[in-house]
Amino acid sequence: MKDALYARLPIGLQNLACTFAGWRRARARFTPHFHRCLEEWEASGTGSVEGLYRIQQRRLERLVDRARRYVPHYRRLDLPPAHVSRDPAEAVARTLASLPVLEKESYRDHAESFVAEDIPRRRLRRGRTSGTTGTALPLWYTPEALAEEYATVWRLRRSLGVSLSDPHFSFGGQQIVPLRQQEPPFWRTNAHAGQTLFSLYHMSPERLRAYVDALHELPACYVQGYPSSLHLVGRALLEAGRPLPKGRLKAVFPSSESLLAFHRETIEAAFGAPIGDRYGTSEFAVSMTGCPEGHLHVDMEFGIVEVEVATETDTTVEGPLLVTGLGNDATPFLRYRIGDTGTRLKRPCPCGRPGDVFVDVDGRIEDVVVTPEGNAVGRLDHVFKDQLDVAEAQILQERREGIRVLVVRRPSYGEASERGLVKEIRSRLGERIEIAIEHVEAIPREPNGKFRAVKSSVGGHGE
Ligand SMILES: [Zn+2]
Repeated sequence: MKDALYARLPIGLQNLACTFAGWRRARARFTPHFHRCLEEWEASGTGSVEGLYRIQQRRLERLVDRARRYVPHYRRLDLPPAHVSRDPAEAVARTLASLPVLEKESYRDHAESFVAEDIPRRRLRRGRTSGTTGTALPLWYTPEALAEEYATVWRLRRSLGVSLSDPHFSFGGQQIVPLRQQEPPFWRTNAHAGQTLFSLYHMSPERLRAYVDALHELPACYVQGYPSSLHLVGRALLEAGRPLPKGRLKAVFPSSESLLAFHRETIEAAFGAPIGDRYGTSEFAVSMTGCPEGHLHVDMEFGIVEVEVATETDTTVEGPLLVTGLGNDATPFLRYRIGDTGTRLKRPCPCGRPGDVFVDVDGRIEDVVVTPEGNAVGRLDHVFKDQLDVAEAQILQERREGIRVLVVRRPSYGEASERGLVKEIRSRLGERIEIAIEHVEAIPREPNGKFRAVKSSVGGHGE
C-alpha cells in the first residue's frame, strides 16, 4: 500500500491494512516447505551430531553441484565436485577445503554472475545485504530460502514455549502510525496474527507512558523487535515502576540489530522474560540460535560456519567467520567471508544441544573509532554497559581529534555520572582524544529505524 494513502486512512482501516499485510507476510513465510523443515529440524536439532553432519553432507553436495552447473561465477572457476566419503564430517570438511573463499568485494563486483540460471526470474525475490563500506549489495533468494530461515527462527521460539498462533507485540521498523498523530494509540493491530505493532517513531518520554499502559493491557505471549527500541520501552517500564509481571511473557526475541551489551539486562528485567537470542544475516547463509547457557548454536541444517583461526585457547578458537548457506538456491554463497568474527567452543555445549556452538559473535554493526594516536577501537557499546544513569547514548566521530557523545539522561544523572562516563571512555580511547558530551532529548534513528551506538566517518566499519 502507498504510504501517503495509508496515512490518510482512519485508524480502523489502517488496522485492516496491517492485517492484510500480515496475512500476505504469513503466506510467504509459513509455506508447506516451512512446516516440513520445522518438523524435520526439530527432530535433527535434538538428535546426534552425526545426523547433523549427514544433513550438511547431502545439502552441500547438492549446492556444489548446482553451483558448478548453473551459477556463472562458479562455472568459470571450474569448481571440483563434492568430496565423497562415508564419514559425513570428513566429507564436509574436505569439500569445503577444496573451495575458494568468497570475498565481499568479489560478490559486489559481479553480483549478477552469482544468480543461478535455472531458476525462473519470476520465482526470485530481491533483497539487499550490507557491503564493507555500508553500501547495500543486491541479493536474490528463493521463497524456500525465506521459509527455511523462518524454520530456524521458529525452532528457537517453540523451544521457549511460544507457538505460531500466539498473540504478540512487535517493535519493527515499519511506519504504521502517521508521524503527525499526536495522541495514542501509537500502535496498530494485525488481527490475522494477533500482533500489536508499535511505532518506533513516536517514543518521546511523555508518549512512552501510553506504551507502558498498552503493554500491560493488550494480550501477548511474547515480544519481538529491534533491541534498541525494546531497550527504550524497557527503560520506560522500569522508570514507571511497572515492569511486566515475571512469566506473563514467555520470551523476548530481538531481531535485525545486534543486541548490545547494555540492552540485555534492562530488557529482561522490564519484560520479565528471557531473551531468545539469534544471529543471522540477510544473505540467508548463516543462522545461530541462543540456548540457556547464553551460547549461540549454529543451525547446521541451514548453513555451515567455519572459523579462520586467529587466536586459539584450550577451550576456544576465535577469528573471522566463513559461511556457506545451504538453503538459498538463488545466489549460493560458498565459504563467504561475512565480515563478522566469532569465538567457537571446542567442546559440546553443556545445554546438551548437539553441534557447533559459539560463545560470542561480533556482529560488527558498530563503527570503529580511530584515536589521535592511530588506534582503531571497536565494540565501544560496552562503554555504556554499566552507565545506569544513561538512558541512551551514541558516539559520533567526525574528525580524528575528537568524538561527540550524545547522552539521553535519566533523572539520576549527575556530575558524578558524567565523570564516570568520561573515565570509562578514556580507559578505551586514551587521554589525547577530545570528548564532548552533549545532552539530548532523543537520539535519531537511521532511515530504516535502526539504532547505531557508534558512528564514525573516520574509522568506518574497520576491517
Ligand atoms: Zn547450548
